[in-house]
Amino acid sequence: MRTLQGLPASPGIAIGSAFMFLDDEEPTIPRYAVTESELDAEWDRFVVAVGKAKDDVEALRDRAVREMGQEHGAIFDSHLIMLDDPDLLESIEASLRSSLLNMEWIVHQYAQAIVKRLEGLDDPVLQERTVDVHDITRRILNHLMFRERFSLADLNSDVVLVARNLLPSDMIAMNRSKVRAIVMDAGGKTSHTAILARAFEIPAVLGLGGSARAIRNGDIVVVDGNTGDVRVQPDPQTLERYERIRARMAERDETLSGLASLPAKTLDGKEVLIKANIEVPEETDSVLRHGAQGIGLFRSEFLFLQPGRAPSEESQYVAYGRVIEAMGDRPVTIRTLDVGGDKVVPDLAIEEEKNPLLGWRAIRYCLSDKELFQSQLRAILRASVSGDARIMFPMISGPVELDSALAQLEAAKAECRRRGQSFREDIPVGIMIEVPSAAMIADILAPKVDFFSIGTNDLIQYTIAVDRGNERVAYLHEPFHPAVIRLVKKVIDDGHAAGIPVSMCGEMASDPFAAVVLLGLGLDEFSMSAVSVPDVKRTIRSIGFAEAEAVANEVLKLSSHRETEEFLAKRLADRVSRDG
Ligand code: PEP
Ligand code: MG
Repeated sequence: MRTLQGLPASPGIAIGSAFMFLDDEEPTIPRYAVTESELDAEWDRFVVAVGKAKDDVEALRDRAVREMGQEHGAIFDSHLIMLDDPDLLESIEASLRSSLLNMEWIVHQYAQAIVKRLEGLDDPVLQERTVDVHDITRRILNHLMFRERFSLADLNSDVVLVARNLLPSDMIAMNRSKVRAIVMDAGGKTSHTAILARAFEIPAVLGLGGSARAIRNGDIVVVDGNTGDVRVQPDPQTLERYERIRARMAERDETLSGLASLPAKTLDGKEVLIKANIEVPEETDSVLRHGAQGIGLFRSEFLFLQPGRAPSEESQYVAYGRVIEAMGDRPVTIRTLDVGGDKVVPDLAIEEEKNPLLGWRAIRYCLSDKELFQSQLRAILRASVSGDARIMFPMISGPVELDSALAQLEAAKAECRRRGQSFREDIPVGIMIEVPSAAMIADILAPKVDFFSIGTNDLIQYTIAVDRGNERVAYLHEPFHPAVIRLVKKVIDDGHAAGIPVSMCGEMASDPFAAVVLLGLGLDEFSMSAVSVPDVKRTIRSIGFAEAEAVANEVLKLSSHRETEEFLAKRLADRVSRDG
């Protein structure tokens, strides 16, 4: 058995037979001289190949839009723009005429040069765009060389798909029902492949950096998308262990699915709401299946992570409308664009900053790009008539900033009225409480809004001064730090004093131990990734509110996260499990 380690990019465990999708390998490119008299014919071959490549991409785009929604067409729109790029055509023609070499060789050289340039950049997001260059140039080369690609749409038995680099078009084209898991040398957690794998609920380990090549066609492979482990040709004991883990997870999911239609009600009758966080509109199926009572956080910035161009007001309107309609009468909270920091959007001009997490992020960025902000606000407002939508501003740090955001919302409403576009006049407006200054003055902010949602991922980061993405200090990112607990309590109390509900959409809400403490502190709503919903619902249903209050009161007296962890482990041992 060999063990490979990559990035856990999409959760779940899968066991299956490896299918090596090596079609992504560079084909052998012929190189030969052409004469002056052959130049025009050579150029015509290129024009025909580009035309066919465009037909392929248009067909893929139409399929993506049909099956997954307008915003997924953007990937292919950007490929079409590249195929029409006059620079591409001009430089290919110039190389042809100056080098007198065949077209395959020239296209290949051109692709290599662009990829090299992108790889030399510091920006990992731009580096990931090499995938798109590979995609379009390989498509042109395939047509030039009459080389038909094996289509992943033709997969007809269950496989673990192993590739050097699956392209966005492969993810869209593949027969998803046959793909048990994805293992890939390339790719980061923000790559399209990772985003789409999560949206399709396919376990995935990416970023193996070359070691995926150690797998052979037909090898039995275990893929653990929760830890990033890949076991190749596992010994019988390992296989048995993973079969057991998988069966236990499936059994647990089955039991928990029975909770989907039940309320999140404590033993003594107190009811809270459990909602889900989503990144892409396709996740609504999973949200409903896991029994979430709404969407507490739609991270709208993922619509902007597609390369090519920022989504228009129209395409945002369609995407928000789809989510709101899919959720029926359940509430959907759309957070306005939270870019900057660790979320870099290729098409927005956010320059490199010394301290990006303290810099031009989220609401700060939106307030400085009013056109972009206005188009998003109008798109949300217009979509609000399809159901129960809410608007939420991220990273609010003080009342003046909040007033500016609210003024922008009023301006967007005025513009919709002017255009005669209908929207919900009384759409609820809330803010994320994720900056310590906002938590400290929650009493000042509360009267201005309809709800709070505590973002502990950032609140912990800023309170304890611990970069949430830095593995060296990850041990300090501690939800039970007394400072965090006190801030959370203050936000809940201040929200309630002003008569508004308080939610939490940071990861802390998905931990069953924390859920008991938060319930006891009076939290009204919990929002988390869809797969965590059943566990937290079960936790809430297995405890009394009075007991949760007693637990929270004890926790407030403790002086370190370690004491709290130990206390909760002992106190909740018989009822609440953290690992199912
Ligand atoms: C948070 O900060 O807790 C949050 C939910 O927002 P994000 O993780 O998107 O920063
Ligand atoms: Mg945040």
